[in-house]
Amino acid sequence: MKTLKQTIDKCKELSFDLNFTEAKNWKGKDNNRALIGYMPIYFPREIAHASNCLAVGILGTGDRKRIIKGDAYYQSYICRIPRGIIELALDKHFEGFDGFIFPSICDVIRNLSGMFKLLNIGNFVSYLDYPQNFNPNIGGEFYKNEINNILTNIKKINNAEVTTEKLNHSISLYNKNRKLITSIYDARQKFPWRLSAEELYYVIRAGMVIPVEDHNIILEQVYDFIQENFGEPIDKIRVIVYGSFCEQPPVSLIKTIELAGCYVVDDDFLIGSRWIEGNIDDNTDDPINAIVNAFLTKSTFSSSLYDVNNPKEDRLIELFNKRNADGIIFAAASFCDPALLDRPTLQNACEKNNIRYISFQFSENIGEFKNIKEQVGAFSDSIKLWDDELIEN
Ligand code: SF4
Repeated sequence: MKTLKQTIDKCKELSFDLNFTEAKNWKGKDNNRALIGYMPIYFPREIAHASNCLAVGILGTGDRKRIIKGDAYYQSYICRIPRGIIELALDKHFEGFDGFIFPSICDVIRNLSGMFKLLNIGNFVSYLDYPQNFNPNIGGEFYKNEINNILTNIKKINNAEVTTEKLNHSISLYNKNRKLITSIYDARQKFPWRLSAEELYYVIRAGMVIPVEDHNIILEQVYDFIQENFGEPIDKIRVIVYGSFCEQPPVSLIKTIELAGCYVVDDDFLIGSRWIEGNIDDNTDDPINAIVNAFLTKSTFSSSLYDVNNPKEDRLIELFNKRNADGIIFAAASFCDPALLDRPTLQNACEKNNIRYISFQFSENIGEFKNIKEQVGAFSDSIKLWDDELIEN
């Protein structure tokens, strides 16, 4: 049995392996296996699993690779994640990958899918559009069609027969995965000092590059570890970090937030891993319909998702209350249109509800955190010193 530290160290190694060694080793054990890379944020990985594929999350290069060629593909005034992904592609990091899914997040990702097509990377490149109409007969049918197109593409690669039984089994494994992740977030809400936001980040991110069966074992271990009573709470405020759903903040930024006096009690890093809130029906004659239905009725909120009749600002306030948070930190990637366009609406909602917030931008490779540390430290101090409720408690 590994210690918590050993498990976290392993997750850290997996998370930032830009060669995707574990995934490639998995594929190498069986000729009928295939690797499907997917860009952030959400992709119904159940369909890949049922097709004998491993869906591998591709999150850019972070601060671990110098971007040279990627800059030549993009203008200067867009975010950094697509440049890193192109750099990885041109430097052959995706050798052994069979196909790529580009979920519709924004125009940048749409263009990136076009570049992969032009560069002939992988056997197929799918741009996956999500429904913006939540009527099952309209948006639901559309989405079903999108999923079936992907399954057809995968079948051309490994000839996998996807059965109802296999899909139900895959759904049940991902239900377990989401449930464990939610349980860890809930446990951290009560005892955030038992697992830092940085450690949690590694644990969740590792799950994007290894089989779900292996990730479930890791999550169970971590969940069991943090049931034990260890560590002492420190005088920190509790914050939600929001706006980092696609390009990921450098880990040092997450660390900086915690070192500057905050417990991060919720966030939208790697949100695709817990996109569906709750279970998908795993005992059905029509599992594709169950996946579609879950997307229409159980999706989380995000700047990348149309939120008709269910405004994201209301859901952010709900999350704030549920997590008993003291403030919100809006941290978006530089030039991230979806996040930055939403920001005024979300900030207005904070003001109406007397919720303290601060905002800043980052890029995945920033290496200087002094300003952010000062800003977050001042935010934390101002809440600790001047929040009546905290003083009374
Ligand atoms: S970081 Fe924002 S702008 Fe850039 S690809 Fe992602 S969603 Fe699009």
